[in-house]
Amino acid sequence: MEFNTKLIHGGTSMDETTGGMSVPIHMATTFQQEKIGENKYDYSRSGNPTREAVESLIADLEGGKEGLAFASGSAAIQTIFALFSAGDHFVVGNDVYGGTFRLIDGVLKRFGMTFTAVDTRDLAAVKQAIKPNTKAIYLETPTNPLLHVTDIQAVADIARSHQLLSIIDSTFSSPYIQRPFEFGVDLVIHSASKYLGGHSDVIAGLVVAKDEKLASELRYLQNAIGGILSPHGSWLLQRGMKTLGLRMRAHLQNAEAVFNYLAKQPLVSKIYYPGDPENADFATAKKQMNGFGAMISFELQEGLDPEEFVGQLQVITLAESLGAVESLIEIPASMTHGSIPKEIRLANGIKDELIRLSVGVEDQDDILADLAQGFNYLKGN
Ligand SMILES: *Cc1c(COP(=O)(O)O)cnc(C)c1O
Repeated sequence: MEFNTKLIHGGTSMDETTGGMSVPIHMATTFQQEKIGENKYDYSRSGNPTREAVESLIADLEGGKEGLAFASGSAAIQTIFALFSAGDHFVVGNDVYGGTFRLIDGVLKRFGMTFTAVDTRDLAAVKQAIKPNTKAIYLETPTNPLLHVTDIQAVADIARSHQLLSIIDSTFSSPYIQRPFEFGVDLVIHSASKYLGGHSDVIAGLVVAKDEKLASELRYLQNAIGGILSPHGSWLLQRGMKTLGLRMRAHLQNAEAVFNYLAKQPLVSKIYYPGDPENADFATAKKQMNGFGAMISFELQEGLDPEEFVGQLQVITLAESLGAVESLIEIPASMTHGSIPKEIRLANGIKDELIRLSVGVEDQDDILADLAQGFNYLKGN
């Protein structure tokens, strides 16, 4: 099956007992046991048919062994770190999602784990950060909000040669755009609250394990910790995922048009978009991504107020999050990345005037006209 067919027919895509073309929402917390120990399900935290439908779908899409669904991307990430123990060290990307930074800095460090943050595009820096007690390399690509692209294969190779796990948060791409197992990664994470759900209506996290051993360890932890996705959340998520291909094609086309527009806009001083041929990561993006994603960040010319610009927009909505059908815009310094200490944020290149745009699937002309009226307003002030 090709990818777009898998979106429709992959995993469990219908009700096998009635032939219904929609997976049922199994709300049951417990299941009758005909004979002790012989039934497929016993308790819904441990296993639920609706959750299994979405778990098997993401496993099919990523080409991994098993999928696991969690109540949020953050719960998924927490569960992955529960694979490790006090005293373990990790090499992590220096531009990770704000909530992941918070989890590392505010929680995991208290449990005796240590972290070295590096720009994972710099392979020498990645190697140099590895210590005798390092257990894994954890990265995002493209990153948030600067859309840096790391060579997945190169980092996975480094991890393997040091007997480390490689863990990738692939949220910004979705499996439509990149499938990290093809490059040798061990674990793939998604905040399914973004492109996979796609409609700003479900918070969810997915993990896919490459092999049986990791899958069963994570299955144990999913049940032990209990941060599972609800039956209703699972249903909504698998329903949203069916149109991932359709949505991504529209997202990609619109993003390219927005990039071309911003590139000609004199009030914009800098654009961060992996599809920009002048972007340092363009060649890496081209090699490992099927399209360049639909996230674009940009800086206004000095002296212009990003808050005034985003406040003026009508079609594009001022909101955190990304990957939904709606175009969403935000200012990382005061919104998504507000919890990162200012000196760390600035050192990582996230300036106060940076704006992050998640290009939606509205009509292209409406998105471009909205941006134009925002810039005209700045010019008038
Ligand atoms: C949103 C996001 C998360 C966290 O996911 P939630 O579902 O909000 O908990 C993790 N990583 C990335 C890259 C994200 O964008």
